Amino acid sequence: MSFTLAIVGRPNVGKSTLFNRLVGKKLALVDDQPGVTRDLREGDARLADLRFTVIDTAGLEQATDESLQGRMRALTERAVQMADLCLFIIDARVGVTADDLVFAEILRRKADGRVLLAANKAEGNAGDAGYYEAFSLGLGEPIALSAEHGEGLDELRHALMPWH
Ligand code: GDP
Ligand code: MG
Repeated sequence: MSFTLAIVGRPNVGKSTLFNRLVGKKLALVDDQPGVTRDLREGDARLADLRFTVIDTAGLEQATDESLQGRMRALTERAVQMADLCLFIIDARVGVTADDLVFAEILRRKADGRVLLAANKAEGNAGDAGYYEAFSLGLGEPIALSAEHGEGLDELRHALMPWH
C-alpha cells in the first residue's frame, strides 16, 4: 500500500524544491491525464525506504495578485481531492502571511485532518521565529525543513510513516 502526498502553499515557499528533492530525476508531467492540467505535477517520490506519489501544486506562480486567491482555492481543493494527505508549507524566514491563513482555512475545512505542516527554509537560525509562528495555524506541530539543504527529511519521513 502506498499513498499520495500533495505539497501545497503559496508561491515561493519551496514546494517545487521539495518536490524535486523527493522525486529526483524521475519526474512525470500530468497534463496527459484527463482532467488534470499542468498546474499539478505528479512524480514518484522516494524518502529513504518510503515510496509514494507526490503532487506539486505548480500553477500559482504565474497568477497576478487579483487572481491568486481564486487559484489558490481551486488548486488547493483539487490537490486535496487527489491526495490522501497534504503537506502545507510556509516559509520559516517570512513567518505566517495573510495568504498562509487562507490556505490554512481551506485545509481545515476540506482536508479533514489529513494535513501535515512544514516550515521550510529553516536552515540556520533565520527561520526560528517563523517556525514558532507556525504553531498558531492550529495544524499541529510544524516540521522544520530545508528543502534546499536536505534538512528535516528524517522528521518528514517519520510523519509520513503512518500513512504508508
Ligand atoms: P515554490 O514556488 O513554492 O515552488 O518555491 P520554489 O521551490 O520555486 O523555491 C522558491 C525559492 O526559494 C527558490 O529561490 C529556492 O531556491 C528557495 N528555497 C527553496 N527551499 C529553500 C530552503 O530550504 N532554504 C532556502 N534558504 N531557500 C529555499
Ligand atoms: Mg513551484
